[in-house]
Amino acid sequence: MNFEIIILMAEAVVVYLLVLGTHSLRHRFGLAHYYALIGGVTAVMSWVTDAGIAVHVWGVTFVVGSTVFYTSLLLGVFVVYVFDGLRATRIIISTVIGVSIMVPLIAVVLNIQMKLSGAPALGFVPSPSFRLNAASVFATTMDMVFLAVAWEYMNNRFQWIPMGIRAFLTLLGVMWLDVILFATGAFAGTGQWLSIIQGTALSRLIVSCFAAPLLWAYLSWQNRRWGTQITQRPVLAILKQFAQMKRELTQAQEEIERRKRAERALRESQERLRTLASTDALTGLANRRRFRAVANNEIHRARRYGTELSMILMDVDRFKQVNDTFGHDVGDQVLRELAAIGLANIRTFDLLARVGGEEFAMVLPESDLETARRAAERMRLAVEAQTITVEHHQVRMTISLGAASFKPDMKQVDDLYKAADQALYQAKKKGRNSVQVAGEH
Ligand code: GH3
Ligand code: MG
Ligand code: MG
Repeated sequence: MNFEIIILMAEAVVVYLLVLGTHSLRHRFGLAHYYALIGGVTAVMSWVTDAGIAVHVWGVTFVVGSTVFYTSLLLGVFVVYVFDGLRATRIIISTVIGVSIMVPLIAVVLNIQMKLSGAPALGFVPSPSFRLNAASVFATTMDMVFLAVAWEYMNNRFQWIPMGIRAFLTLLGVMWLDVILFATGAFAGTGQWLSIIQGTALSRLIVSCFAAPLLWAYLSWQNRRWGTQITQRPVLAILKQFAQMKRELTQAQEEIERRKRAERALRESQERLRTLASTDALTGLANRRRFRAVANNEIHRARRYGTELSMILMDVDRFKQVNDTFGHDVGDQVLRELAAIGLANIRTFDLLARVGGEEFAMVLPESDLETARRAAERMRLAVEAQTITVEHHQVRMTISLGAASFKPDMKQVDDLYKAADQALYQAKKKGRNSVQVAGEH
């Protein structure tokens, strides 16, 4: 047997075992040393490959860089992927790629440095080819990704194939992918491309056959020793998990949105209810309830601070006639128009409310009786002056108003209300369309 091939095989076994052996110590020392070793092997691979060291035997060329070092790297990444999870796989892949990029750059810099200082070129630091190295880095990246996906795919689809064969097929798959990618990147268009692919594919097949049993033995041993479920490795499982997590997250977000919407709707309906409870549906003015609450507050305030406070009650004159002549609907419209006229003629801090069918009332804070009378008169004139048009009918309305002021002996809203109501009664008695103030008749 060729002496060179024995050395190559011995060298390969030593480096493979070095890598796998170091990996087997991870439970004692952690993975850091292992990453360092892999980085070192990558550097040596790059260097040996650039130096073009190869062994020719039986018409087949074994490039040392790939047969020994590159293959050991594949084994190294393989076992990390199988036993140490995605994070470790990411680290080891980035180590390999990082060092593959770094070593040729260092070689370039060293060569430039030698050239600049006029020293002879360094024989042991070969000047790297950019194309070769770029192709190598690219191929390596794809290989590592392919390795994980291929192993995972085999596990999922071909569980029935014995683990050792799956490991072999994965290894061979990566090696051939590497041949195709690397040879295409490095030699496409040079004329040697196809023969290089053929030659290398054969040598890689032999190397795979040689390395796979070692890999298989190692996987089985570690699997027995640490009980790792090597048949259920994660890429796809983790992708599935991610998808599941994302789905759950989306569902949770939707649930939150749904609850928020429901809460908003509830708040809005509560708000609407509150508004409804205090608003007159026909005119949109405050209703009787709110009128009483506001008036009550104002009475407390007037009593406490000794300020003036007045109230005006209004009743539409002969409103029944509107209903009788034009119908109830037109009557409603007229009430709305009257409310609008009323709103247009009050001060911002006065409150106008509809307290009965065609009866309105006002609270006028900080206003004495004279002020209230003027306000009532202004309101009466405003209504009298306006022609109200409803469904082509034109009506002119008048109102009667009674005003009263808060007196210290008044205990509650009703006392003031009664006084204003009596004044209103007087206004009606006087012939309507008039203003009367309490205690003036
Ligand atoms: P006056 O007040 O000048 O004595 O005459 P009036 O015709 O207005 O008499 P009264 O106040 O007694 O009658 C009020 C009428 O208002 C009775 C009812 O038909 C009408 N009315 C009360 N509430 C509503 C309402 O919400 N819509 C309509 N269209 N009419 C109403
Ligand atoms: Mg009335
Ligand atoms: Mg009336």
